[in-house]
Amino acid sequence: MTATGTAANGKPIKDQVSPEEWRTRVDLAAFYRLVAKHGMDDLVGTHLSARVPGHPDQFLLNPYGQLFNQITASSLVKVDVEGNTILDSGYPVNAAGFTIHSAVLMGRSDVNSVAHTHTIPGMAISATEAGILPLTQNSARFYQRVGTHDYEGPATDLDERQRLQRDLGDKDALVLRNHGLLVASPSVRQAWSALYNLEKVCKVQLMAQSTGEELIMPSESIMRHCYEQMQRSSSGGNSQRRDGWESQLRLLDRDDASYAH
Ligand SMILES: [Zn+2]
Repeated sequence: MTATGTAANGKPIKDQVSPEEWRTRVDLAAFYRLVAKHGMDDLVGTHLSARVPGHPDQFLLNPYGQLFNQITASSLVKVDVEGNTILDSGYPVNAAGFTIHSAVLMGRSDVNSVAHTHTIPGMAISATEAGILPLTQNSARFYQRVGTHDYEGPATDLDERQRLQRDLGDKDALVLRNHGLLVASPSVRQAWSALYNLEKVCKVQLMAQSTGEELIMPSESIMRHCYEQMQRSSSGGNSQRRDGWESQLRLLDRDDASYAH
């Protein structure tokens, strides 16, 4: 382990990366803190990643062994898709995390941030035959945009990357059967928003199913219409304000701004 903010070579990480990479590091560290704040972490398990700006074959991943609420911009590990550590923060990388995130980032040039969780609602839905159902307005955002990936054991076999790529296809999220959830987004803030909402969709579905009542689902045409409306509004000028990212950062800053170091 190295001194706070320094690489294994003893120099400050901030001085060894581009301003764009530093910004991405701060965003990704904030994402880890937000996942912890909203109870979606799993001790030192699971992982969130971001592609390094200007280096399509490199990405940032958590320092394995740190809790999500301890992660900082400097402690993130930079690796390439071959598994080489490019900038060592003194921590190892989780092998399953490397497999999953390198698979998605190699397979999808439009994706720059990937998030994977083991939340109780996500794992519960992942163990159901039906997966995510179109039950609410929130779920319309994911209508026909979620793939499924069958469980193969811990994702330490690099061969699984091809099947992860195939099962994600051009979709926005994956239910990793008997395991958890994954979202793939163009940016860190979009990954945060997708993950937060997907988690909520899973919670609502479980609550609705647990009533034992017959479930009412909007028609396919309504869900399609709703999805298209959401797509139009998310590409509009106010979309950045509506996702709540800056408000969440202010929440973090008020309590503990150390993620940005
Ligand atoms: Zn996992």
